[in-house]
Amino acid sequence: METIESIAANTALVRAREGGGRSWKWKEMLRFPNISQCKDLAMNIERDYYSLCVKEPIGKKLFQLFCRIIISEAIVALLLCVLSNDIAVQCQMEFIFLLWIRDLHKYLSNEPFAQYQDSMFFARFLQWKQLERSPITKHTFRQYRLLGKGGFGAVWACQVRATGKMYACKKLEKTHVKKRKGEDMALNEKEILQELDSRFVVNLAYAYETKHNLCMVLTMMNGGDLGFHIHRMGSPGLTKDRARFYAAEVCCGLIHLHQKSILYRDLKPENILLDDNGHIRISDLGLAVKMSEGSLVRGRVGTLGYMAPEVIGYERYGMSVDWWGLGCLIYEMTAGRPPFRAKGEKPKSSEMERRIQNEHEEYGNQFSKETKDICSLLLTKDPTKRLGSQKSGGKDVKSHPFFQEINFRMLEAGCVDPPFKPDPSQVYCTDVQDIEEFSTVKGVHFDQTDIFFYSQFNTGSNSIIWQNELIETGCFEELNVFGPKGSASPDLIW
Ligand code: ADP
Ligand code: MG
Ligand code: MG
Repeated sequence: METIESIAANTALVRAREGGGRSWKWKEMLRFPNISQCKDLAMNIERDYYSLCVKEPIGKKLFQLFCRIIISEAIVALLLCVLSNDIAVQCQMEFIFLLWIRDLHKYLSNEPFAQYQDSMFFARFLQWKQLERSPITKHTFRQYRLLGKGGFGAVWACQVRATGKMYACKKLEKTHVKKRKGEDMALNEKEILQELDSRFVVNLAYAYETKHNLCMVLTMMNGGDLGFHIHRMGSPGLTKDRARFYAAEVCCGLIHLHQKSILYRDLKPENILLDDNGHIRISDLGLAVKMSEGSLVRGRVGTLGYMAPEVIGYERYGMSVDWWGLGCLIYEMTAGRPPFRAKGEKPKSSEMERRIQNEHEEYGNQFSKETKDICSLLLTKDPTKRLGSQKSGGKDVKSHPFFQEINFRMLEAGCVDPPFKPDPSQVYCTDVQDIEEFSTVKGVHFDQTDIFFYSQFNTGSNSIIWQNELIETGCFEELNVFGPKGSASPDLIW
């Protein structure tokens, strides 16, 4: 039954995410430092064209503003470049287009980029960068309800006071981390997340510390996890359309991770989250591992019911374990239960291990021919024979008939509408009072090594995500004004 406490927590969260949650002091919070305060930054920032003018969203916007002034010059130069290569007539349009872009960047990264760095637009960029580097503390955010519980702490809904942007804050309790020697794991999760930029994996927006916690601020996923949708929304299981769509997006996420030599190792419905529109992202990269070129890893990690036979068998393994995980996921979305466990059954671990290694999963009549076929190929016990584990990797999975109706190029561009859109007025998580409290750990003392570890963790804002937040919430547009008639405003004059 829903308690008053739970209703209040949900109402507050639903209101907050309806938008307009900027603090009334937001302009003060985002006040530009005078340009003279950006001297160190100006000296130390790496003057790399690609990252400053292409990758960083605010950098790109300011460079574009600057380019408006010199654009006609650029087009002439570009035309000259293209014509002098004399390829225009011979090539396909797409190729020409890529060359154009390449040549354009080549041109812009020389003289225009040099001029840009002497302009007021770059001075403004430095001001934004200085703001981006402001220390992050618990006062940066407002906190809403508890969303879920994890191994080292809890995940809370939160909102950046200055911009109104909602995020999920995964808090790891310092005492728990120390007691259970989770330092490497916590840092590993943070560093892997920081390196990724995919629409199919949660983003890390901020990493910071408070007196008691290490915090990772992640993309807010309002639609709940797949476990909730499979098991807690009526009769267990999902329609074939939904199962196929989620499987396809997870497949893209896995391919992105594998391209970066990251093995995920924790694929299960609880770790796949839905956003407002019904797209999924892979989350919880606590067990992910960066592999070195051509090598395999060993280690019995993961969640037992979803572990591949080679993991259970203490063998060395590679990307094959994630494809096994995808097989378990498609199976569970279809059957409403994982492949080696009956509904409501809780077998002992030794029994689970035996089944995973020796038994063949059964396919009921919910499975179409293609669904059954892809599951059995992904759940092949021998990792070398498993779908996805051959040389062409994830490509083989994408071209399986199960995915025939999926246009992967459109999906990767975010242009496919999800088959199910979460209801914005609903909170798709366990009631607050039903999420267990975290036990407190006593008798843990912190020393110099801990402080060093916290400082490695506490890296503040993640540039690209922070800049996108300012653009998306309209703060950039409102604050990025210059003086009258396009002159520099006083705070921009060195
Ligand atoms: P752990 O590593 O301890 O398993 P998770 O990262 O899986 O922790 O988080 C625990 C739970 O918190 C998830 O199952 C989910 O319900 C919720 N959660 C985690 N990240 C988010 C997010 N980005 N948005 C919404 N809820 C989340
Ligand atoms: Mg988890
Ligand atoms: Mg985890």
